[in-house]
Amino acid sequence: IEKIAVLTSGGDSPGMNAAVRAVVRTCAFHNVECYGVYQGYEGLIEGDFKKMDARSVKGIINKGGTILKSARSKEFRTKEGRQKAYDNLSEEGIDGLVVIGGDGSFTGALIFNQEFGFPVMGIPGTIDNDIFGTSHTLGFDTALNTVVDAIDKIRDTASSHNRLFFIEVMGRDVGHIALNVGIAGGAEEILIPEEDLGLDRLVESLNKSRKSGKSSSIVVVAEGDKIGKNIFELKDYVDENMEGYDVRVSVLGHMQRGGAPSCFDRVLASRMGVKAVEAMLNGQSNYMVGLLDNKMELTPLDNAIKGKTKINLELLRVSDIMST
Ligand code: ATP
Repeated sequence: IEKIAVLTSGGDSPGMNAAVRAVVRTCAFHNVECYGVYQGYEGLIEGDFKKMDARSVKGIINKGGTILKSARSKEFRTKEGRQKAYDNLSEEGIDGLVVIGGDGSFTGALIFNQEFGFPVMGIPGTIDNDIFGTSHTLGFDTALNTVVDAIDKIRDTASSHNRLFFIEVMGRDVGHIALNVGIAGGAEEILIPEEDLGLDRLVESLNKSRKSGKSSSIVVVAEGDKIGKNIFELKDYVDENMEGYDVRVSVLGHMQRGGAPSCFDRVLASRMGVKAVEAMLNGQSNYMVGLLDNKMELTPLDNAIKGKTKINLELLRVSDIMST
């Protein structure tokens, strides 16, 4: 491998910049040329990339978002699009690609490899922590801290007014964010895609805690929770079926993806960048770099895409006990 390109793809997450920096600097360390690709796979197709050296990535380890920009590329889903990408890379003499993104981005990388035999390596960047083969994805820890901060602030106003807040957090398919911030933010209940608490049990539980003397309550709701109502319908239902609380909704939205990466995410990104480049230089391809038992491990991209992460049931139980 003589020239490696790096791109960020799919939804952005805090720590992507730190990972780009780590890839670029590891290349510099090993005297390998490195190219930054703009707008994810779009940039490959457009030939929008530029050579980067160790100094090109100064001052970004602490920045949220991604300096390389991210995009979703329809054209890369077509054979013609990928052919253009391959031609552009070949013309520049680039012979390895590091993709920082989620499972969709990894699927694209894998197909690209299968078609052209082009070496690819994945770094999991998404706040949802929904990728198999790593205990933490890049950005997850930062997002948890961002959301807990927001919950703490909402709690202040909730307890001043005897309010019950439904707070929606990201997580269409998985409840990792909801479970963790629910416990850390002292939520009364946590609604996640993996479990259906049931409306009646929810109301019963909230009534019980109200009667036990609580002056405010917070229910953390993952976007994809299974209770079968959207968060505003949920609010209306609970409003009609319980007394003593003024019920409000707060949808946190995209603020969860922003902000300076936490120390944990910066360290993780640095480790992942080093591992991704060094594995590639060792002739490995089609892997995702992950954190398992505090070690950097490689998982075949195929497994990373197909494998499912599971919620930690112990956390559910801890949450139940804590809301006593
Ligand atoms: P997030 O976790 O934020 O959803 P992601 O990487 O899963 O991140 P996607 O939008 O699913 O985000 O995928 C990013 C890009 O990867 C797509 O826009 C597309 O260019 C490419 N991609 C995804 N699936 C395929 C596929 N089956 N074939 C080719 N390219 C694909």
